Amino acid sequence: MNGRLLGRVLVLAAAVSVPLGAGLTTASAAPAAVTTVYYSSSGAPDYLAQIDQGAANWNAVVTDVKLVKRSSGATVKFHEIHSGGSYTNTNGHGRGDIYLDTSQVAEGFDPTRIAAHELGHNLGLPDDYTGPCTELMSGHGPGTACKNAKPSAAEAAKVQSLWANGFAASETRQVAY
Ligand SMILES: [Zn+2]
Repeated sequence: MNGRLLGRVLVLAAAVSVPLGAGLTTASAAPAAVTTVYYSSSGAPDYLAQIDQGAANWNAVVTDVKLVKRSSGATVKFHEIHSGGSYTNTNGHGRGDIYLDTSQVAEGFDPTRIAAHELGHNLGLPDDYTGPCTELMSGHGPGTACKNAKPSAAEAAKVQSLWANGFAASETRQVAY
């Protein structure tokens, strides 16, 4: 709710204090709603299925935020590059550009894991390169043999907590795979 609307609601609440005030209290005490983050994958045509699977792996373990594919108006956009390593520029909270490197996939790194890892950054998680393969955010750390594309329980819990209050702005930063 923006400040202006809130001001109007407060004025109304003061004018009709009992019923509207009660309604506002109920609304603010309600459980956190699901926040939908829209992603587009058309910019990475070689990895459409892998991107969808990476998103589905997140959706399977968190309820505060849901990743939904949409061709227009997406705030997380996938792109394909051919060198330099996969990375994302993101605010860490539902807005960013993800670059999937075809040469990294050619080296043997799993594209579903890369997509899920970069989505993890867009959901707020930092890298943990020394972590095990069972973590998504260990990224390239465990090597090409690691094909795990599912978040660990701890990673899911962290994202769940980061989205308990919906969208919030933060700074854009660049983080790699
Ligand atoms: Zn990373």
